[in-house]
This record gives sequence, structure tokens and C-alpha cells, in this order.
Amino acid sequence: MRPSHLDPRSPFVLETHELGRRPGSMRTVQRTVAAPDELGTGMIGIPSGSDLELDLRLEAVMEGVLVTGSIRGEAVGECVRCLERVVEIVDAPVQELYVYPERAEAAVASGDEDEDVRELEGDLLDLEPALRDAVVPVLPFRPLCQEDCPGLCSECGTRLADDPDHAHETIDPRWAALGGLRGTDDEKRES
Ligand SMILES: [Zn+2]
Ligand SMILES: [Zn+2]
Repeated sequence: MRPSHLDPRSPFVLETHELGRRPGSMRTVQRTVAAPDELGTGMIGIPSGSDLELDLRLEAVMEGVLVTGSIRGEAVGECVRCLERVVEIVDAPVQELYVYPERAEAAVASGDEDEDVRELEGDLLDLEPALRDAVVPVLPFRPLCQEDCPGLCSECGTRLADDPDHAHETIDPRWAALGGLRGTDDEKRES
């Protein structure tokens, strides 16, 4: 058995010793942990340090330990149309098999190693990579503050959801250049 580099005190490291490798034995894990760094996409994510609720079942099977359950938290991002803050409740299902180390070694020896397979380290398993794989896909690809967010006014940048009747007088393109000049004058006057 390779020595484990996992820290049993880490909130993401789960102990499986008491399952005793008896298929069918199981334990549940319910804990609230602080979200790790960079849990999300560039658009939206669960802020580092915010609460993540783990509600998991660890079950011994022939090949290893099967982890099923859910991870809940609150993702914060920006509306892709109007940049308003978006908060989404995340409830990500998890199902991951962690194989016993000697099973994984046997698979490597026989040449049918599955690179995606997760491995127990001694009696410990590291939930963090599985947690990322579970949470990131359930985040909205294009976060929206509301389903039909009208976005920003292309002329002045006002958030149209705040001002639905928002309108600009259509300026004849021939006068638009003059309008631009007038704008510069206004700025000078204000300063
Ligand atoms: Zn929006
Ligand atoms: Zn406008």
C-alpha cells in the first residue's frame, strides 16, 4: 500500500475504514464545508469559503467505495446580458466510484487502466476533484438575472430591466456628428 498524501483532517478527505471492505456496508456523511478556491467558471461560481453542504452516502462495493449524494451551495455570478449580480442555488448530484488501490494497480499491470478512475489512498478518499466535476457542469453556461433579461441599452448602457420604457430619440446620422461635438462641449463646461 502506498503511503497516503491525503490529510485526514481536510474536510474533503473522507474516511472509509469503518466500511471494512465489506460490500454492502455503508455510512453517511453530512457536513458543511468551506468551498475551495475557484469552484466554478469565469462566469459564475461558488465563492471560496462559502458554505457547501455535503450530503453523501459511502457504500462499499466489490471494486471499492461508491460515493453518492449531493452537494449544495450558492453560486454567484454576473448576468451575461446586463452584468447584474446573479445568485443561483446549486444542488449537484454526485456519483463516484473510488477503487481500492490494489485494484487500480492490477488494472495498470494488465494494461486496461482507466485514466478517469478515482482511487482510494489507503482508507481515505479525496472528494475535492469529484466535487469540482459535479458542481461545474450544473452551473448555468450563460447566467441570466432573469429568463428574459433585455440587457443593456446599446446607446447609453442603462440596464433595460430597470427602465423598460427607455428610449432615445433617433438622431439623423447627419446630425449625429454634431451631437458628438456638443457632447464634448458639455463635458468641458462641467469641468
Ligand atoms: Zn440581466
Ligand atoms: Zn439608453
